[in-house]
Amino acid sequence: MALLQITDLNKIYHRRRPDEMTALADISLVIEPGEAVALTGPSGSGKTTLLSLLGCMARPTSGNIFLHERNIARLPERFLARIRRESFGFVFQHYQLLRDVNVLENVMLPLYPTERSFREMKAAAGAVLERFGMLSMAGKKVKQLSGGEQQRVAIARALIAQPEVIIADEPTAHLDGDLARELLRIFQDLHGEGTTLIMATHDPLLAQAPFVQHRIRLRFGRIEEDLLL
Ligand code: ADP
Ligand code: MG
Repeated sequence: MALLQITDLNKIYHRRRPDEMTALADISLVIEPGEAVALTGPSGSGKTTLLSLLGCMARPTSGNIFLHERNIARLPERFLARIRRESFGFVFQHYQLLRDVNVLENVMLPLYPTERSFREMKAAAGAVLERFGMLSMAGKKVKQLSGGEQQRVAIARALIAQPEVIIADEPTAHLDGDLARELLRIFQDLHGEGTTLIMATHDPLLAQAPFVQHRIRLRFGRIEEDLLL
């Protein structure tokens, strides 16, 4: 059973306005559970838009998105929000951490709203931070951290709810060589543990990484190549 299947997907921004923009056109693809997917293509080709649709952050103009065979393309926002929280972890290009809030609380954020107690959430956040050697920084504000440390916090945050799928948008874009390689190793480990990875990237280091099994290249909002490696 496919994890995600999309059929005839279109996304048009500013529809029926003079600045109408077709960001995605007639996209169909299948992502299997546990795959490591690299989504490539030039800037403006629709990578971020496709990630936002796959991750239930936005809805398509037309077409279908099946998550475990359930069509989520037209679900009301409150259902989408729940699916997003339970199934996906996001690593954004600019991390999108709260700079004036401490590391521990940033990592806990995806758990809200929740039935869990504060103590449980704190324990969960501590556990993911420990995994990335960041536990000693739990009380620091994000703005006091280096870029590499912020990236690790962003990954810890993406993992806290133990999502089935990690969606990462240009995760190495602001990292230098060593840090990019460290991120690669973290992703490779996650893949080894069975997490599905969907990564939009310009970076050959990531797009050509040995653990990548599925390469999708976009051009002008269309699929130019869909390759199972
Ligand atoms: P990529 O991530 O590959 O650079 P994007 O998905 O960000 O591509 O953008 C695809 C196209 O859609 C671009 O032409 C971009 O300008 C346009 N676009 C993206 N987001 C919006 C938006 N919120 N409103 C209008 N146009 C958008
Ligand atoms: Mg983008």
